[in-house]
Amino acid sequence: MPDSYFVTVLGHPAGRGGPTLAMALPQSNALILRAVGAPDLRLPYAEMTIELDPADPERVLLGAPGLGETRVAVDDRRIAEQLAALAPPEVGARWRTLQDRGRARRRFGARARVLALAAAIVALAAGFWFGYDALVAYAVSKIPVRYESRLSALSGSAEGPQVKDPVVNAAVQHVVARLLQTIPNSPYQFQVTVVADPRVNAFALPGGRIVVLSGLIAASESPDELAGVLAHEIQHVLRRHGLNGLIRKLGVQGLFVIALSGRGAAAEALKSVAPDLLNLRFSRAQEAEADRGGLELLLTSNVPAAGMIDFFRRQSQDESGTTRALNFASDHPTSRHRLEVLESLAHAHPAPAPVDWGLDWNDVRARCRAASAPKIP
Ligand SMILES: [Zn+2]
Repeated sequence: MPDSYFVTVLGHPAGRGGPTLAMALPQSNALILRAVGAPDLRLPYAEMTIELDPADPERVLLGAPGLGETRVAVDDRRIAEQLAALAPPEVGARWRTLQDRGRARRRFGARARVLALAAAIVALAAGFWFGYDALVAYAVSKIPVRYESRLSALSGSAEGPQVKDPVVNAAVQHVVARLLQTIPNSPYQFQVTVVADPRVNAFALPGGRIVVLSGLIAASESPDELAGVLAHEIQHVLRRHGLNGLIRKLGVQGLFVIALSGRGAAAEALKSVAPDLLNLRFSRAQEAEADRGGLELLLTSNVPAAGMIDFFRRQSQDESGTTRALNFASDHPTSRHRLEVLESLAHAHPAPAPVDWGLDWNDVRARCRAASAPKIP
């Protein structure tokens, strides 16, 4: 009686499945596969292919050119070892080498999974220890930058018509370029668009989209002032404030999903709250960060900070006296403290020389006023 072991036959065209016996006869040149009610299959050792199942590195798959796509799966490691021992020495050696490799791969995979889980547990523990903010920051760090612009697209942001006036667009791009020049290694592709809208506002979406309403340009008395607002918005992008706010919307449960699972699950979870991007309000702490970073960006770009501070001050005064539905100050509550911080930061640095922007700013403002004037139907 030859040594025989149960194996599984996969992908046989005649639908042959069920218990199959692999029989290794002494001095034989082939492994014989026998099942009830089916003709024997022969796997000649000389042509036998031995591979590991990509889905299970401990499972050996045997094949032969004559069997086409059919594979003999040996699930049990001990059976595989015994069959390898019964095969001719050269085939047996090949078989054992492959199995060792499979076992090593499995051990490595298990270790990687344990490490990932340990990292997640540490992060969660840190979340409880250092608070919610640390947990949110950890979740933010797990989302790749390129996914942010996808989220913005999903938010369905449908702002008003874009201002087509080439003079306005060229002026805005000129101001933006000066700021971006100082951050050449940013992972973001910034895209600043001007939208025809009389309100004094600007906002930043995750991924680098910044929208400036024409009313804000009309209200800014110099390119320096616009540069100040843009520098602030650029900071919201660089510091991933939008993504941070979105992740907070997911709540504790969603945070756990992101912290513990892969990127796929995180992306799915974020998709569900993407429309909230449009109603997102940045926190006071985020605004303070954007102010500080924005002012530093201005100074690095050699733009005096006075414009930024003047603009913010005027907006805060405006708000108390008028009933603008939406203006920069209502999104960015300008407390006295906020202005004081900006002023003391500006004073701590030597003021750059005035910039010659080479722009006819009054013309740019007039064009913006024209663009945002209500159309008579
Ligand atoms: Zn802001």
